[in-house]
Amino acid sequence: MHVLSVSQFHNETIQTLFALATKYKKLDQTTAGRKKLHSLHTGNQLCSLFYEPSTRTRISFEQAALKLGMGVVSTENAAEFSSASKGETLEDTMRVLNGYNFDAVIVRHPETGATDRAAAVSTTPIINAGDGKGEHPTQALLDLYTIYEKHGTLEGLTVVLGGDLKHGRTVRSLVRLLARYKGNRFVFVSTSELQIGVDIKQELAHVGCTYTETEDMKQAFKNADVVYWTRLQKERLETKLTSSKEFILNKQTIAYLPKKAVIMHPLPRVSEIHTEIDSDPRAYYFKQASNGLYVRMALLHTVLSSR
Ligand code: ASP
Repeated sequence: MHVLSVSQFHNETIQTLFALATKYKKLDQTTAGRKKLHSLHTGNQLCSLFYEPSTRTRISFEQAALKLGMGVVSTENAAEFSSASKGETLEDTMRVLNGYNFDAVIVRHPETGATDRAAAVSTTPIINAGDGKGEHPTQALLDLYTIYEKHGTLEGLTVVLGGDLKHGRTVRSLVRLLARYKGNRFVFVSTSELQIGVDIKQELAHVGCTYTETEDMKQAFKNADVVYWTRLQKERLETKLTSSKEFILNKQTIAYLPKKAVIMHPLPRVSEIHTEIDSDPRAYYFKQASNGLYVRMALLHTVLSSR
């Protein structure tokens, strides 16, 4: 019932979800299609409960719900404007929402595992919209959809992930998903302080996926099918970094990338992708973000239909 981690999804479920997202994307292009979409979930209601800032996840989920004909109740700064600021626990907030009879509750929270805690007491489906340094399953689904859209396959890909791999939850969820498909290879680009978690490396070793770690972008970009870049998660740093080395995608560094590569980023970008490459045909991050709307519509429909 709840959507908490990418590990819940079978590959067949993902394919069904993607087919639905593609159908919704098409329907959304015409007035008749939009009317049809709007009739799908009239009378259902979504609550979005965000204890951390968000642009894409919250707005695309709410837009997804509205496009499906749902009603939306939203608190975009629950840390400050909900009773959390008076000391109410997340569990109690969920117990209260149980009584308001929503059809789904989208939760983002700065603590890893908070969405699991919410789900443990919720009688309404919870969708994890990012829990601290844990997971961001819906972002990973839209990332995977985008890779599938660009390459027509999810197997045999060389995927280069760079930036703050230690604190970035989107990277963790995406690697977990991609590791389930045959023949994918990972190249992690970061400083030693910001390497991807040992738990993820162990999972990769367990399923027999090859990965390398490097600080050399030129070397990493050779044969890349996907380049997935991330910002430094300043809000999650426990200690000051000793290295100030940055990995920046600009005209000079993407010159090492093959033509077939797709450049992705969960956004927001800060300084790690220069705007000078936005017009490069391989730059796909804004289209990737727009795919989020349709993947989240498909997910909402699936969650609501399974109740
Ligand atoms: N928007 C993504 C997240 O919420 C990525 C980021 O914030 O850097 O995790």
